[in-house]
Amino acid sequence: MIVMKFGGTSLAGAVEIRQVGAIVRRFASRRPVVVVSAMAGVTDDLIAIAEQALRGSPVEVSRRLDRLEARHRKTARGLGLFGPQGAPPHAPPHADDALRREQQALFSDLESSCHGVLLLRELSRRSLDLISSFGERLSAQIVAAHLRRQGLPAAFVDARRLIMTDDSHGEAAVDFDATARNIRGGLLKQIRKGTIPVITGFIGRTREGATTTLGRSGSDYTAAIVGYGLRAREVWIWKEVDGVCTADPHLVPNARVVPHISYQEAAEMSHFGAEVIHPKTMLPARRHGIPIRIKNTFKPAAPGTLITARPARRGPLPLLVSSIEGMALVTIEGVGIFGQPGMIMRLLTPVATAGTNIYMISMSSSEYNISFAIKQGDLDKTLKALEKDFRDRGLLGEQVARVSVERDMAAVAVVGAGMKGQHGIAGRVFSALGDSRVNVVAIAQGSSEYNITVIIKGRDTKTALRAIHDRLNVGLAALRRGRRQALRLVRG
Ligand code: ASP
Ligand code: MG
Repeated sequence: MIVMKFGGTSLAGAVEIRQVGAIVRRFASRRPVVVVSAMAGVTDDLIAIAEQALRGSPVEVSRRLDRLEARHRKTARGLGLFGPQGAPPHAPPHADDALRREQQALFSDLESSCHGVLLLRELSRRSLDLISSFGERLSAQIVAAHLRRQGLPAAFVDARRLIMTDDSHGEAAVDFDATARNIRGGLLKQIRKGTIPVITGFIGRTREGATTTLGRSGSDYTAAIVGYGLRAREVWIWKEVDGVCTADPHLVPNARVVPHISYQEAAEMSHFGAEVIHPKTMLPARRHGIPIRIKNTFKPAAPGTLITARPARRGPLPLLVSSIEGMALVTIEGVGIFGQPGMIMRLLTPVATAGTNIYMISMSSSEYNISFAIKQGDLDKTLKALEKDFRDRGLLGEQVARVSVERDMAAVAVVGAGMKGQHGIAGRVFSALGDSRVNVVAIAQGSSEYNITVIIKGRDTKTALRAIHDRLNVGLAALRRGRRQALRLVRG
């Protein structure tokens, strides 16, 4: 069994969905289990509609709902699944009507949900999850119908039947045991009967039956969860790019596809803004050692990137560079509060309680200051939480704890198993930055030696990425060429 996930761009319209159909057919003998995202942009549209409803603009809501419905209808028509042209003679009777009815039922449910928000002028995270769930339900029905039309035994599967979560709406945590039980109990039986399931990505359900979502771009994660439950042979993530690259090719022209990396490298990369794969995807895959492959929907023959427990061992390992902009660096200083065991924990507890994710921390050994980088959007709530905590504990005041902030920063991370035990990598990173006149504001290196992170000014990001990437990777290639040349010389 191979779990194959198709993202929104691979499902943008009828043309793209035909391509998906061709891929599933091509790999039909490998027993594909399909997981789909919503059609490109649909989740954003649904969230926008929910927000319009909250603002109380019924006209705008129904205009947007109509547009969404028209888009799905147009896609189904483009695939020959709707409309008077009718089914070919070998199709089961009324197949077209079934899809039409299913889609109509979904749109009428969606409309009722939006109507509820319009009436109550209240949009809870729970309602937002329900409204966001329609994108995947709509697209999965269309893809299943298209595969059936191609003569494949496909069936629509609502992931809420399978994936059990807690009630942290918007980014729900998965109950793996319950989920694996559901998958082995229900889905596996279906597959054994020869069915190709087409499963909605992104969504799950609580014990009480409320709809949840697994976080934006969460369909990759769904694919890995399904792979975990089925103990699939591999999980393939079909995208519109060739694989994981050494850097974002839009920013770094010399970037290239990496054929093989480890789960850990892939996770670190995606935490650091490389939008190739959802960072949680690696968790379930890693538990059962299921390889993940990133492949390009529009170039299915290209090898893509393979992600497994151990990185490729031949030759020097690639180093990957990525960045996140829109960061703020918060620094806490003061003589009175440091040098006490447990202080870091106490200082950072209010940050965690505020729900802020910390991207990197650096602390000087004098212990007079600690800096950490967070998303700028989290800054206000984080500062409030820190101030309140200091005030409550009587810690505020110039000599005791001063908080300062630098905005519009970027975090640039160098990731790679190739760093481990190697000397000179950090040196090359910093000399590349120095030579390009990029000022480094803060630094952290994890002791795993898989990641060096530097904080710089946001406007220096592109310069920094190119400088580091080319110094590390191009430098490495030159080194290899040099070594080969030297060998040739020695051998004569
Ligand atoms: N449709 C969802 C989103 O756009 C999930 C996904 O695409 O993976 O976030
Ligand atoms: Mg999407």
